[in-house]
Amino acid sequence: MYYAAPVAVLIEELTKLPSIGPKSAQRLAFHLLKVSPEEAKKLSDAIVDVKNKIKFCKICFNITEGDVCELCRDTNRDDSLLCVVGEPRDIIALERAGNYRGRYHVLEGVVSPIDGIGPGDLRIKELLDRLKDDKVREIILATNPNIEGEATAMYIARLVKPLGIMVTRIASGLPVGGDLEYADEVTLGKALEGRREM
Ligand SMILES: [Zn+2]
Repeated sequence: MYYAAPVAVLIEELTKLPSIGPKSAQRLAFHLLKVSPEEAKKLSDAIVDVKNKIKFCKICFNITEGDVCELCRDTNRDDSLLCVVGEPRDIIALERAGNYRGRYHVLEGVVSPIDGIGPGDLRIKELLDRLKDDKVREIILATNPNIEGEATAMYIARLVKPLGIMVTRIASGLPVGGDLEYADEVTLGKALEGRREM
């Protein structure tokens, strides 16, 4: 394929995005060629803006505009419940389910030997630090119901159980191999209600 250089660069960059293959990248690039300069600028500004303004919460590692996220600042949430997730987008999925009022902790990934990600690459040390003030009575492991998510949950359960804190895992009912973010609210809400002790 022979594209003008700027188009080739755009396609190359778009191809790096998750679930965008070469064909989708080409379609998006040609779409962007047609939109007005103002529309294109809005998109590029939005990308630069999130990179400049969004940080990770220093308590739970959720995404936030300040140092501490809204969920950590909320005084109406239950400090005795701590839900551990892989990614910030999982918090959004669980909040949409609507029946959880505890706190969260984002691991920023899951154990995945194939991708060279070990427990040391995750926010597990920070999780253990959060347990030191004795407020947490139950840890809910809500990593995705796939091999990596299960392995990560088991690893954390082994570390936390000796501390005398109850460790639960969200119930099945979620499709095995699936992603929390794609589960509907009812399924996810039920999975949280039906969590079992590990
Ligand atoms: Zn937070």
